[in-house]
Amino acid sequence: MSASVEHALVLDQVSRSYGDVGAARGLDLRVAPGELVTLIGPSGCGKSTALRLVAGLERPDSGRIVIAGETVAGPGRFRQPEQRRVGLVFQDHALFPHLSVERNVAFGLTDLPRNERAARVAEVLGLVRLADKAKRYPHELSGGEQQRVALARALAPRPAVVLLDEPFSSLDENLRAQVRAELVGVLRSTGTTALFVTHDQTEALSIGDRVVVMQAGRIEQADTPQRVFESPASRFVASFMGDADFLPAHVHNALLTCEVGVVSTVPGWAHSDVDVEVVLRPHEVALAPAVGRSGGGPEVVAVEYHGAFVLHTVRLPSGRTLRSWQQHAVRYPVGTPVDASVVAGVTPTLLVGDRAVVAPAGAPPLS
Ligand code: ADP
Ligand code: MG
Repeated sequence: MSASVEHALVLDQVSRSYGDVGAARGLDLRVAPGELVTLIGPSGCGKSTALRLVAGLERPDSGRIVIAGETVAGPGRFRQPEQRRVGLVFQDHALFPHLSVERNVAFGLTDLPRNERAARVAEVLGLVRLADKAKRYPHELSGGEQQRVALARALAPRPAVVLLDEPFSSLDENLRAQVRAELVGVLRSTGTTALFVTHDQTEALSIGDRVVVMQAGRIEQADTPQRVFESPASRFVASFMGDADFLPAHVHNALLTCEVGVVSTVPGWAHSDVDVEVVLRPHEVALAPAVGRSGGGPEVVAVEYHGAFVLHTVRLPSGRTLRSWQQHAVRYPVGTPVDASVVAGVTPTLLVGDRAVVAPAGAPPLS
């Protein structure tokens, strides 16, 4: 059967409400075998609900969920969590404190004969490099090691999908990067399909093959990290995934201009004359000191030192502000008159209302 299974996981119009709150609203998602999908959005947007629906800890009000070709939730059908081929890793790793590492990992393997169980436990503990800690108890391990045990336990029964809900949020910043690298390494090397919830934008972009951005129970965009960051589908995605400033702009005969001047040409807008908004990220905005200019033009109103880069905020004559990353050594003091421009070669996102547009309304699609 598995050879014919095209997707490890399918969500088809899955909805779930709690009273008036639509925690999941028409979720549609297809996850390929071996794919690592990150799920991100503001607190309360429904990330955990989505995972709990897949795990079988919640029932959808409507829609269908298919895991490795088997419908586990849908009209007239509901598989209990233990009947689904899912592994769970949560923030509070929920290891059994009174069981040793190996017995924690063996917990989900009761279907296997004893000798096979022992072999599988040894195998997954090897994968997470904890073979030498098999006899220890959870309190004798570091937070990172406990999280690796949790992953080993999730992987042991060979699930079709592993679900991880903010697995690193209880770890401190330094440990986090290391544990993340180890855990993602294990998911990759084992070809595990995973749905990974995080509230950290950088984490979502850096580890996901695809990033699903949610807001208020809906999927706003499900796309590659590059597209989510460089071609956000909406104002919400643009501002949630990284810093973004929005300026009123105008397209006239394929030329895009805004308060800081010409931004770029926009092929496909040849005969248009329309107002839009342009999304500018701080790495796309260049600054140069406006030597000899006094008053009236753009000026620096804030400087934030971030170490390798320095974030400058510039107020334009309209009162709007733009942010610009400058190299470590560049620090224009507050009050410095500057010229702001858009870095050459940038193809910025354009918005009409809250949606990104790639062509003027009514235009034939680009071929
Ligand atoms: P996230 O994980 O993105 O922070 P959740 O999925 O936990 O969001 O919650 C989504 C929404 O559903 C929130 O408004 C939350 O308060 C609500 N919610 C989640 N679980 C329950 C529940 N068991 N009972 C009532 N409301 C819930
Ligand atoms: Mg949550």
